[in-house]
Amino acid sequence: MDILAALRTELGDDAVVTGDAMGPWCHDWTGGYTSAPLAVVRPRDTVGVSAVMRAAQASGTAVVPISGNTGLNGGASTQGGLLLSLDRMKTIRAIDATARSAVVDAGVILSQMHDAAAAHDLIFPLTFGARGSAMIGGVLSTNAGGSNVRRYGNTRDLVLGIEAVLPNGRVMDLMGHLHKDNTGLNLKHLMIGAEGTLGIITAAVLRLFPKPRAYATAMVALNDLGPALDLLNRVQDASRGAVEAFEFMPDTYIDGHLAIKPDARPPFDRRYPVNILIELGATAAQDTTPLADGTVPITNLLEDILGQMIADGTVLDAHVVASEAQRRDMWARREAAGEIGFRKRPLVDTDVAVGLTDVDAFLRNVRSGLLALDPDATDWAVSHLGDGNVHYVAYPSRDDPALIHAIRAMVDAVTADLNGSFSAEHGIGLSKRISMARHKDPAALDAMRAIKAALDPHGIMNPGKMLPDA
Ligand SMILES: Cc1cc2nc3c(=O)[nH]c(=O)nc-3n(C[C@H](O)[C@H](O)[C@H](O)COP(=O)(O)OP(=O)(O)OC[C@H]3O[C@@H](n4cnc5c(N)ncnc54)[C@H](O)[C@@H]3O)c2cc1C
Repeated sequence: MDILAALRTELGDDAVVTGDAMGPWCHDWTGGYTSAPLAVVRPRDTVGVSAVMRAAQASGTAVVPISGNTGLNGGASTQGGLLLSLDRMKTIRAIDATARSAVVDAGVILSQMHDAAAAHDLIFPLTFGARGSAMIGGVLSTNAGGSNVRRYGNTRDLVLGIEAVLPNGRVMDLMGHLHKDNTGLNLKHLMIGAEGTLGIITAAVLRLFPKPRAYATAMVALNDLGPALDLLNRVQDASRGAVEAFEFMPDTYIDGHLAIKPDARPPFDRRYPVNILIELGATAAQDTTPLADGTVPITNLLEDILGQMIADGTVLDAHVVASEAQRRDMWARREAAGEIGFRKRPLVDTDVAVGLTDVDAFLRNVRSGLLALDPDATDWAVSHLGDGNVHYVAYPSRDDPALIHAIRAMVDAVTADLNGSFSAEHGIGLSKRISMARHKDPAALDAMRAIKAALDPHGIMNPGKMLPDA
């Protein structure tokens, strides 16, 4: 019996999708990566995932896990393998509001997790523009970041336990609720960020946090990034670390936003080089209870610091939001980043991390490097400045593979000179394997290959992704 017939027998006909019906899984968000799978397999539970892996191992068939397919690097694509979709495994099994944790299936969509936590007056803090499609299994597998990493950490910091199916079909149950567990190698963290190359994450225990009772949000205009970091530190100190987001949008970003949303309002009447979205979230009554004059202490704190910095000339302008609608508008501008960045082609999109004080040097150096390679090229950037993550996009003037390759190599080299990372939050997938080969420590690469070979001796788990060829 061939593998599809075997899987239909074991999982039911509706769990094995072939032909045109596979369309929704075969095109990623960027439109740059397409798949031609043997089939899309949609198990209902962990037992079903295990059955798929056993059948795949027996027949030597490649398996590529796919969740929301919002990854930006081709990690969930395949030519000829099985796409294993977790989309039918979407139960929130339990929420423990006292222990502040949730037990969820891997196919739960991120925004579904947000809504479920909110019903208990809690938050699952990880958030980013693709939250309406990205699934828990996908965000764990990429160790996703987002706009509030500075306060809550990456996905890795938000996970207490996981369940994963190994390439041989065995289920590895690490679904602990523990905050401390020193029992040998930490295999939870091995599976998180492995991009589906070591097994399939099928469930997780997630940490929840108190829901802020009040937010203070502002757009701030400055001339350069030095004073922006002063602002971050002053507000962090005064608010006891309540900064949730510190997002940098240069003037080129604002131009890009107005190009795709001509009806949107610019953040300020004038064009400024540095535009910062700062947001504080407060949970304590002393910070959130309105005063007799109707003002809210956490907002007053932000306004006071901005007022001082406007007075000394370091901040040029600021708008503190006065309503939830204004806050949503500010976030809509920031969360249009994907749409703005991918609006033109050809493009070279990158996702680097550098030290907070190196963001300025990074942007200057990549621009001069870009113009040296292609004087007619343009560029664009947006940054989670609070954690040093920069999404830098170059638009070469011609669709020339050699030029595109040279630009990517130049950005990698600038990043390496600043002791940065060429992959901050989106993972490696297909697009950054060349950067892995160029810049990852060779001993670390060999250790990764040894782990991969031990867990996946037949090389069936998401082959050709993340690790460069030896
Ligand atoms: C508009 C937009 C904004 C974004 N903003 C951010 C951002 O701010 N921060 C950020 O980190 N990312 C961001 N991303 C990238 C993307 O959303 C994240 O990488 C997300 O974590 C991917 O989740 P997904 O469910 O779509 O995974 P997919 O794209 O389906 O898969 C991603 C990788 O994980 C593997 N995988 C999927 N599910 C499993 C599983 N259950 N077990 C094992 N492996 C699995 C896949 O094989 C693939 O290699 C953004 C993307 C878009 C389109």
